[in-house]
Amino acid sequence: MTAPHHPASWWRQEEKDVRCLLCPHGCRIPPEGRGICGVRRHEEGRGLVSMNYGLVSAAAVDPVEKKPLYHWKPGTSILSFGSIGCTMHCPFCQNWQIARCESDRSLTPAHPGTPLQIARKEGLSSVAFTYNEPLVWFEFLTESAQILRDEGVSVVLVSNGLINPGPRDEVLPLLSAANIDLKAFTDEAYRFMGGYLEPVKKTIERFFEGGIHLEITFLLVPGINDSKEDFRRMTRWMASLSPELVLHISRYFPSHQWKEPATSLSLLREFAEAAREDLLYVYEGNTGGANGTKCSSCGASLIERKDYRITGPFVDSSGRCLRCGTPSPFVI
Ligand code: SF4
Repeated sequence: MTAPHHPASWWRQEEKDVRCLLCPHGCRIPPEGRGICGVRRHEEGRGLVSMNYGLVSAAAVDPVEKKPLYHWKPGTSILSFGSIGCTMHCPFCQNWQIARCESDRSLTPAHPGTPLQIARKEGLSSVAFTYNEPLVWFEFLTESAQILRDEGVSVVLVSNGLINPGPRDEVLPLLSAANIDLKAFTDEAYRFMGGYLEPVKKTIERFFEGGIHLEITFLLVPGINDSKEDFRRMTRWMASLSPELVLHISRYFPSHQWKEPATSLSLLREFAEAAREDLLYVYEGNTGGANGTKCSSCGASLIERKDYRITGPFVDSSGRCLRCGTPSPFVI
């Protein structure tokens, strides 16, 4: 992280320290210290600065299904952009090298117009902020997202949803779609992973009310969030927002500090079947198997998916099921 540090937003001075107001951790940071995320630093005389502003850890063109977003612009490609840092410390993190800033991974400099430039060059109409936790890239994310939005390019957020109300409401109008991780449904499990359940629920509620396209991912990790009772409370809560809220139940594989065996396919299936008692669209992820969407009215296939490739959608020009004319759940 050699680029000059950029002034951060959402903080205040508290005596000799600064208090970061970006996420619910509310870190009080002494001079020359860093917050829990590892990428916001108190520079004496300057206040809070962003250490990852304009630093890119990865950029790639992916199928939108890989984010995962199954009901938003299906079959399209999206530019994915990420930096370093995260507000949580899940022991099973699949991206821990960039989330924890512990590697010597090389970072590429960028400016807020870079995502638009690359999207234009690749002929893409959407950009996702993903890989690490994009909300700890807040200043770069919001500046880039504004430029993209002004030029008619859709912005997608793939996030753990851990953010305070003020910055959340600043980023929301810039978004077209989001996938939020709901990692568990007890505060105890969230504390174990370094987060808090209630603020994540609030982010989901606010994004849902805000009218952006929203999908939820739940990574099923044996030993951490495999209580069926808690999971059903979660799916019932989701259904209270809308039974059409999409849920991806994803299979965990051993990674970082968590060595438990991978989630069995039978447990994944059991949880998916339980979720289908509350929700209309439940998908099993990371299985290598096929995943389709059926019309909620007549059962006709609307899309078939395999390895992030799709067949379909089998809908008419107004997005209705070809067989029975019921509106499909897709944003085309
Ligand atoms: S964004 Fe980082 S520094 Fe700010 S409160 Fe959250 S963890 Fe702490």
